[in-house]
Amino acid sequence: MIIPEMMQYDSFFFDLDGVVWEAESALPGTVDFINRLHALGKKVYYISNNASRKRKDFIKALNEIGIQAELDTILCAAYSCSLYLHQNYPLNTKVFVIGREGLIDEIKEAGYEVIDGNSYKNTVFAAHRDFLELEVDPDVKAVIAGFTFDFNYTMLSYGSKCIQSGAKLATGNYDHYDRFGKYNAPSCGCIVDALRCASGVQEFENLGKPNTYLLEMICRRDRLDMGKIVVFGDKMATDIKLAKNYSAASVLMMTGAETRESYKKYDFEPDYVYDSMEELLI
Ligand SMILES: [Mg+2]
Repeated sequence: MIIPEMMQYDSFFFDLDGVVWEAESALPGTVDFINRLHALGKKVYYISNNASRKRKDFIKALNEIGIQAELDTILCAAYSCSLYLHQNYPLNTKVFVIGREGLIDEIKEAGYEVIDGNSYKNTVFAAHRDFLELEVDPDVKAVIAGFTFDFNYTMLSYGSKCIQSGAKLATGNYDHYDRFGKYNAPSCGCIVDALRCASGVQEFENLGKPNTYLLEMICRRDRLDMGKIVVFGDKMATDIKLAKNYSAASVLMMTGAETRESYKKYDFEPDYVYDSMEELLI
């Protein structure tokens, strides 16, 4: 059984990092809680701003900790980017993608012709002549920014030239940093803002949390009862804000980014706060 507070909801949206797992080890109670939801016939989705991996990779990782999941329940940043492309561009449109293999694969599998930023990862400019001579494909209609440790000046130049030629910029993750130990590590939002600064074009599509793009799409697709949705997260600014933006219920888990002090700095509140998913089991 699960606690009555959670029984009232039909559709559960879980963030992954800091909620379901940490470094892919399941957090206490999560596997049991999610499997009980399945047994009760509740709908379970995973909504993550992680843009490094494709949906099949997330399924494999969930299976490894003992959770079964279907492809269409994985709502990751790579998926939001491919949905956005489907809505706005015909198949086979050329797209410049900065990001890791998972993002590149997902967009290729969605039917787009990808110019892979990674093909420039070892290209180092020595002078502005190199910038002038960098030829960009004039048919690129969109630039998709994901996170990669390999981001460099050449990729920035290529993307910026595309944007200045009229391509639209979009991302599935506008988080600026992730917390690692004592410090904030630069995240995908920094790459997005580098492209905005370099091109002088500020407009871009943020498809990731707290934007409700994916949540809206899925609620429509699966005809979910909006009054019976609950979002689980560990970050106020993305997860809990997403729930607020969509007037859904929210659960802040104390197993990730926030502390009992940090979450009180925001001018909105989660509906529930738990230290562990073990508290949701009875
Ligand atoms: Mg998280």
